[in-house]
Order: sequence, then structure tokens, then C-alpha cells
Amino acid sequence: MQYISTRGGAEPLTYCEALLEGLAPDGGLAVPETMPAVGADLLESWRGLTYPELATEVLALFATDIPRDDLARMCAAAYASFPDEVVPLRSIGGGISLVGLSEGPTLAFKDMAMQFLGQVVEYALARTGSVLNVLGATSGDTGSAAEHALVGKERISVFMLSPQGRMSTFQRAQMFSLDDPNIHNIAIDGVFDDCQNLVKRLAGDLEFKRAQHLGAVNSINLARITAQVVYYFWAWLRATDREGAREVSVTVPSGNFGNILSGFFAKQMGLPIRRLVLATNENNVLDEFFRTGLYRPRAAAETLATSSPSMDISKASNLERFLFELVGRDASRVVRAFGELDETGAIDFTADQPRFVDEFGFLSGSSTHADRLATIRAVHETAGEIIDPHTADGVKVAREHLEEGVPMLVLETAKPQKFAETIREAIGVELEYAPELREMLDAPQHVVDMADDADALRAFIEANALR
Ligand SMILES: *Cc1c(COP(=O)(O)O)cnc(C)c1O
Repeated sequence: MQYISTRGGAEPLTYCEALLEGLAPDGGLAVPETMPAVGADLLESWRGLTYPELATEVLALFATDIPRDDLARMCAAAYASFPDEVVPLRSIGGGISLVGLSEGPTLAFKDMAMQFLGQVVEYALARTGSVLNVLGATSGDTGSAAEHALVGKERISVFMLSPQGRMSTFQRAQMFSLDDPNIHNIAIDGVFDDCQNLVKRLAGDLEFKRAQHLGAVNSINLARITAQVVYYFWAWLRATDREGAREVSVTVPSGNFGNILSGFFAKQMGLPIRRLVLATNENNVLDEFFRTGLYRPRAAAETLATSSPSMDISKASNLERFLFELVGRDASRVVRAFGELDETGAIDFTADQPRFVDEFGFLSGSSTHADRLATIRAVHETAGEIIDPHTADGVKVAREHLEEGVPMLVLETAKPQKFAETIREAIGVELEYAPELREMLDAPQHVVDMADDADALRAFIEANALR
């Protein structure tokens, strides 16, 4: 299997090459040259597999350059710290089940992909004898998932920028309690976008980037997208049986369009998903796109700070991979669309909007702070479950798209413990922390404070990078 760029101007790459690469040299994103197909018989034969075994089967279709034994070993190691089932499903009534993706070390779904990424990046680097210094910016969840996945890996160090004083106590503790010479937490005197801009400036300096072996593990990373495909197969296999429902719909709390893109891949591979329902919060750029066909990313200043903060995103990096399929894999049309975006600030697919659902199964909706609180309260009352605010965005929108006889799955993207204040506001319950979380919250913190200054960051990286 080779990977090509959505903009058509780059040499095809293998899986291991593409996952180390980030953006293609032509500015596009790597996609499979042809989407692997999974027929009904093959799908049925996977029913008895454990999660790591299923992950091996699914990922083997993408990572054809990795011997199967190596892949099986990495999948087993990636999910070893999870509960036995890895991804439990639980019904909350009304035809809705939650898909538990937040059983990993940082209590959010990003662990599902990051834990595999940690394994496979180390493997790909060992093959080429190289090192990687990961430079990233986080507003909370991505940074901690990345650090917990990459800590202790040979050949990898992490430089993670975060906005000083703007993460929750829990998020800070999750990142800063790590005590490892290759994990560098850097608190920038600024907001998330300042952190992001510093990363862009340094990564845009190609000479510096090459000399310091800088790279990223952000949401466009191919290893993350493919690892997320696995749990759509897993959830389908658990939610259906041989004779019963054949189709399910899935609702996905969304920001960067990474998670739901993996569901789209699964559907393209042949998994019987009827509807892919995209849920946003008040930052509803993607809901607007799927309802109208007009994609209008917003400036950072127009992005609201909400109570589902991991979805406070107004530009969806992964959408390009869907647009590529929408235009029949015509890279020149993708290039034209992004040219239009640069000139006018929008991409107009209004004429194609009816195809979003008819051909591809996409629907969408959005929710507000009041909706989240009401949904958390309602689910607590009727099902006795406490759900986090992002998952609540999903449940709220899922309820608007229920269909008779089609099970609705909602992806649980975080545990409520990460967002204790909103839970208190919704149901007046003070969440308890498990002993290991208490320990983490009380541990000494390791972080360097830094001004919003590219030269200072450059010097810090030069002094601390692996080579
Ligand atoms: C990252 C994140 C999301 C958004 O996922 P995307 O892949 O960016 O669409 C939703 N909920 C939580 C809790 C997250 O951490």
C-alpha cells in the first residue's frame, strides 16, 4: 500500500515513511492510494478477536510495509495498560450506546491512537536509524496524550508548548507530573494560538527543522487516523450480531475532524455505517459546513472558550481528506479549493451539499453550554451514568438523528473526571479521583516558563534536542 498526497504533487510513500512525515512536501495530506476493502465474510471472521488482535488485522491493511508479527507485538503493547476489553460499550437507553474510548492513561480518546503511534514511530525510527524531536502545541488533551505515549521511548523527545495558566489543574498535572529527561514542558506567556504560531515559525524554518530533527504527532498524522479506524470496526462488531441489526449510526464529538475521518475511512472500507453524525459545540464551523456546503474557518479571536474545550477549534485540518474524496480524488480540484480559501476565506461546496449525506452518510448538529448541562443531567437521571461535556455534545446531537431499528453509537471522547467543574455545575456531584490520579495531582511539576519568543525557544531546543 502506497500513500499519495491530496494535492497530487508528492512522490508516493510507504506507511512508515508517511507517518513520520506530517504534511506532504506539496502541502497536502497522505491518503491511501486505494482504500483497502473489507468484505462481509472477512468482517464476520473478526467477531471473536480481542482488541489488539482486531487492531493487527485492520492496521495490516494499511501498514503493508510492517511484518505482521511486528505489528501484532506493537498492538499488544499499545493497549496493554487498558482494561481487558480495551473499548467497552454501554447502553444509556433510548437506542443509544456509548463507545468507551477513554480508558487509557490520560482519560481521553486520544490515547487510543497515541499509544499505537508511540510504538510505531519508535519502530519506524529504528528502521532508519534516526531520531525525532516532537515539537507541538497543546491546549490540554493532545499534549498529555502525546507525552504519556512517547515517554521512555528511545530516539524520541518531546517539546510541548502550552499557554501559561490556561489549562485545567488536571491537565497541568497530567503533563507536568512526568519526570523524564526527554519530556520538555514549556509554558508560554500567551494563549494557545501564540503557542501554535511559535511551532509554525520553527517548523517553517526548514533548515532548523532538519538540523534539529523536528517533527509533529498532530491530528493529521497517518498513524493516528489509521489506529482510530480500528474502534469503529470494534464497535460495529459489538453492537451487531450475526442475525440482528446490520447497520449502525455513529455520532462523533468533533473538532479537528480527525476522529470522524477515521469513521469515514471505515465506511469507505465497507463497514456498514449508515450515518456519521458530526457534533460540534458553539464553535460550529463543521456543522455549518455539513448543513450548507460552505466551509468558513474562523480566526482564533472568533473562537469561543466553551465548557467542551477540546472542541474549541475553528479550522479542521483533516477536512481536506474528505474533500479529496468528495471531488472524486481529483487533486487539482483540492488545490483550487484551497486557493479559493486563501483568496476569499471560504470554500464553496454548496452545490455538492446534498451528496454529503446521500453518498457519504454525513449529518451534523451543534450544542450549547445549556444543552451540555441538560444532557449530563438527563443521562445521569435516566441511566445513572456521568458523562463528560464533550460526550454530552455527542449525545445531544445523536438524539436529533435517531432512526427506528438503527442502533446509535456515541463515541465517549473523555472521562468526566477531566472536567469536574462542569459536572458539579450540571448535577452538583463532586467527582472522586482514583488513588493513582490523586497521586498525580499531588506530584511535583516539571515545566519551564518562557516568553512568547521564537529565539528563546530555538535556543532551548538546540540545547536539549536528541541527535
Ligand atoms: C480532541 C478531542 C475532540 C475532537 O476530536 P477531533 O479528532 O479533533 O475531531 C473531542 N473531544 C475530546 C475530549 C478531545 O480531546
